[in-house]
Amino acid sequence: MQFIDLKSQYEALKERIDNRIQTVLNHGQFIMGPEVQELEQKLSEYVDIKHTITCANGTDALQLALMTLGIQPGDIVFTTPFTFFATAEVIALIGAKPVFIDIDPRTFNIDPQKLEDEIVRRQKAGEAPGAAVTAVDLFGLPSDYTVLEPLCSKHGLHLIEDAAQGFGGAIGARKAGSFGDIATTSFFPAKPLGCYGDGGAVFTNNDEYAEKLRSLRFHGKGTDKYDNVLIGLNSRLDTLQAAILLEKLAAFPVEYAARQELAYAYSTALHDRFLVPWIPEGFETCWAQYSLLAQNREERDRVIAQAKARGIPIMIYYPKPLHLLKAMQYLGVSAGDFPVSEQVSERIFSLPMHGYSKQPSNTVLELLVGE
Ligand SMILES: *Cc1c(COP(=O)(O)O)cnc(C)c1O
Repeated sequence: MQFIDLKSQYEALKERIDNRIQTVLNHGQFIMGPEVQELEQKLSEYVDIKHTITCANGTDALQLALMTLGIQPGDIVFTTPFTFFATAEVIALIGAKPVFIDIDPRTFNIDPQKLEDEIVRRQKAGEAPGAAVTAVDLFGLPSDYTVLEPLCSKHGLHLIEDAAQGFGGAIGARKAGSFGDIATTSFFPAKPLGCYGDGGAVFTNNDEYAEKLRSLRFHGKGTDKYDNVLIGLNSRLDTLQAAILLEKLAAFPVEYAARQELAYAYSTALHDRFLVPWIPEGFETCWAQYSLLAQNREERDRVIAQAKARGIPIMIYYPKPLHLLKAMQYLGVSAGDFPVSEQVSERIFSLPMHGYSKQPSNTVLELLVGE
């Protein structure tokens, strides 16, 4: 059993993917070939956004978003401590300062009320205001943009949606990737829409941001690549990866439906035993991860140990919130600062999830229900 079954997906799509790869090998435009533009157009249609700018990975996508919004060294960027490291890493990398805001215990996403409390506290204390917020669609569930968007406009903060795990999710008719000033995603193989290597994309409805993003991902190019107008990155999506993604995107809606069924079956089987995911009214998750909460760390660690012994792939996302990681200690953060994130990281575990089987495996259910 695999945690994310990329093999079944390849078997189902093999002929199409192989043909797409062969086409690229034949035309030989390995950088910015025609598949890149075709993919950008198809992604824009899917997300219902004006501009998609593909890039080398989801981490670069976040960095490109921050650079495009003009985030400067020393600026404060609010974000969640319960996410993959990259979300906060790039804030620090460009010299800005990540300021963590604890999560909502039910959604595991940034808590908009706590964000507003921190904004107001800073105002009253005369501390530096924030420049931006990076919200994360953790495990596939969009952050609460119905509250975050008006809150950010009210306080003059830029809003970035880190939809690395969110692609496919939605709030009402709006798809993940369309929230905030700029949204980003990742095509890392294990993400809901993954390629066969590294890949990422940035989404925006803003024409100026789109132009700047296209320049920044290509060494800050101007009218041509030897007319550099900005200090940028080398962060393009390989044509081969774009070709593969075109076929995976075509299959995505069917996989998406299968993931919904698998998640529903998990919740039906397991809700008496563990705290199952909570999806707010009107929200849709793409189930990047299906994550359960055990009563406490002891119970969680017992499940993990038994799964390991039986060769069942159960993972922990994330064993440590970011403020407890060594690399973030320079911020002066410490244990106890973000109690919800800390408690969740002790209780959470994630089950195998993918779009090629609608039923949970019996070995997984026996392990969890029979416990
Ligand atoms: C995977 C991930 C990233 C980084 O994406 P890469 O393509 O691996 O660079 C950023 N943020 C979140 C929330 C992620 O899950």
